Order: sequence, then structure tokens, then C-alpha cells
Amino acid sequence: MATNLKINGERLWDSLMEMAKIGATEKGGVCRLALTDLDRQARDLFVKWCKEAGCSIRVDKMGNVFARRPGKDNSLAPVMTGSHIDSQPTGGKFDGVYGVLCGLEVIRSLNDMKYETLRPVEAAIWTNEEGSRFAPAMVASGVFAGVFDLDYGLNRADPDGKTMGEELKRIGYAGEDEVGGRPVHAFFEAHIEQGPILEAEKKTIGIVQGAQGQRWFEVVLTGQEAHAGPTPMKVRKDALVGAAHVIGAINRIGHDNQPFACATVGMINSSPNSRNVIPGKVFFTIDLRHPDDAILSKMAAEAKAACEEAVARNHLEMDFKEIWYSPPVKFDASCVAAVKKGADELGLSNLNIISGAGHDSCYMNRVAPTAMVFIPCEGGISHNEIENATKEDCRDGCDVLLRAMVERANAA
Ligand SMILES: [Zn+2]
Repeated sequence: MATNLKINGERLWDSLMEMAKIGATEKGGVCRLALTDLDRQARDLFVKWCKEAGCSIRVDKMGNVFARRPGKDNSLAPVMTGSHIDSQPTGGKFDGVYGVLCGLEVIRSLNDMKYETLRPVEAAIWTNEEGSRFAPAMVASGVFAGVFDLDYGLNRADPDGKTMGEELKRIGYAGEDEVGGRPVHAFFEAHIEQGPILEAEKKTIGIVQGAQGQRWFEVVLTGQEAHAGPTPMKVRKDALVGAAHVIGAINRIGHDNQPFACATVGMINSSPNSRNVIPGKVFFTIDLRHPDDAILSKMAAEAKAACEEAVARNHLEMDFKEIWYSPPVKFDASCVAAVKKGADELGLSNLNIISGAGHDSCYMNRVAPTAMVFIPCEGGISHNEIENATKEDCRDGCDVLLRAMVERANAA
């Protein structure tokens, strides 16, 4: 591919900093919750910039925004990129918005180079990715991908009872287009890593292979409450001791299934939680993650076995429930290869990586060949006002995105 195919890193950075003023916080972060007036201002600015770049704009019924740059043959399905511009209440300047503005920068750069792709190219904003104001996360890309139906999406309510449908109307982004149901030739998303691996390995580009699967469990161990003084050790039914056994085992399961496994007990309630009563009942959660479904299942079986062992040893009873299963996501091999090729052509150090977090791409992968480009973020910190990325890394990630998109946009 032509070596002069480059984006304008200064312009991308200036756009990021300009956008970060909308909802800016004192500590240098951003608070731009979905479908607030600030979200509208950010959308309006993106739309203005895209129109200035010659794009046509479409908005669908979930408020997803699509800016299109025509190709030579506009009957062909577009190559799309995008991410989100909503943030966490104490979010950063890069999470999501980086991917949206990379899409704009790709279009601006193609204009500068007078480069005509065969297929049209689109830059998208997905509504409410964070799930902070309206749960669940990634709901609008989920509707686009057919994971949720439209009514479900529009009826998600915030803590004050305002629905996404009402708030979309209020801010003027309840569009006319049906959500999804149209072909997308390929989808790419650039994003900060939100983890420490690229920085630690001193690599510029993460070639994202997919996202890890998750299994969530809720466990209740029941023993018998008794006085901590008169009750001899050998007759006790201590539910918290059972939970302690499980917590150690879950941590071991994480370590035993490296690389990639994550295993966490993050929440625990002991009852009656009194210093001189043997705990009779303990509730805790288990969160298991792995990119390989077979290993994830094995980890789940090991977790259950650890719970059963704790029950037997401590003479307890157990209620063991799986409450959520999200299968691993494996991105499209040819799109992943296009990202790798782009990074290699540019001479950028790169690393195969698995996303630990959910992204709109995880749903888009169900309806279009999809891949992601990761860049490092300082200290691996995200969902935090101090979230930071360098101008150079932002530029390099967008250069890789440009190449991957152009390759797919020229494919018949
Ligand atoms: Zn994000």
C-alpha cells in the first residue's frame, strides 16, 4: 500500500482536545453521560465537523449517528468505524471518543489525499456504550446487531425514570432510520487499551484478537450460627470459613489458567456479621473470564468443585447459581490481519492482545467482520479522570485504522 497513506496527528489531537472541553472536569477528565445536554453538544460538534468534511449524516431510531463519505460504487456495503462519545461520571478524554474522532480523521485524511475508495466509508457514534446512565452497556450497538430489540433499547430508564426514547427526542437525536438490518462490509474500532499490557511490553499497537468470555456466579453457603465462646471447633458449621476456602481456590484457578484467565471474588456478605457469632450464612460472587470457551468452562467446573469441597469440609449447605454467561468474542481473521498488516507496514511495534473490557465491536462482530486497534494508555488507567494517552500513540493507532479501512474499502 502507498507509503504516503497517513493521517494528520496534530489535527486528530486538536479535535480530541476540543471535544474534551464538552463536559470537562476539574481534574482533567470528562463527565458526559449518555443523552444529556453535553452528549448533544458533543454529537452536534461531531456532526458539524463531518458535514464540513463533505459527509452525509444519518441517525437511526436508537440515536446512532453515521457520517458517510461516498465511494466509487455506493451500491456496495460500507466499511464502518466508530465508538462512543458518552463517558463515565468520572471518565477520561480518550475512552470511546478517540475511536469516533479517528473515524472523522480517516475521512478528513482521505479528503486531503483526494483518495477515492471503492466502497463508501462511515464513521459512527454508538449511543450509550458505557451503560452508566442507562443499563446495560453497549445497548444501541446491541440493537443494531439484533441482540436486543428496539423497544427494549428505547425503554431503558435512568435512575430518575427517564427513558432513552424520551431523552433521544429531547436532545433531537431520535432519528428516522431503522436500527441495523443493513449490510456492513467490515467494522473497525480504535480504542485505548484500558489495561497495562501494551505499556508494560513497550508496544504501540494492540492487534485485538477478540474479547474474553465471562461467567458470573452467586453463591450462598449456609452453616449454623452459634456462640463464638462455648462452641468447640470440631462441631462448628462456619460458613465464612467455607467462603474463605473458596476465595483462595478461585484465586488459584485464575493463576492456574494463565495466560489470560481472570478469576475474582469481588463481593461478600457475611451474616450475622457479629464478632462473637460463628457466621451462619455467607453470600459471595464469582467472576470468571477467559478468551477460550473450553478453558472458561473448565474454570467454572473447578470453581464449582471448590465450592463443593468447602461445603463437605465445613458441613455446610450451598446454593450455587450462574447468573450471567457472555461467550468469548473472536474477531474476524481477515479484519485482524488487515490491522496487523497496517501496523507492520508502518513499522509500528505490535502485540496480539485480548480485550478485557466489552466494546461496541463485540456486538458488531455478530453482524459484520470486525476487528479493533488498541493503543496504550498511561499506567493502564481508564474510567478515571486522569486517563491519558500520548499524541504519538493516538496518531499511530489512527494510521493503522486508516490502512485497515482502506484495504477493506477497496475490496470488491
Ligand atoms: Zn469505551
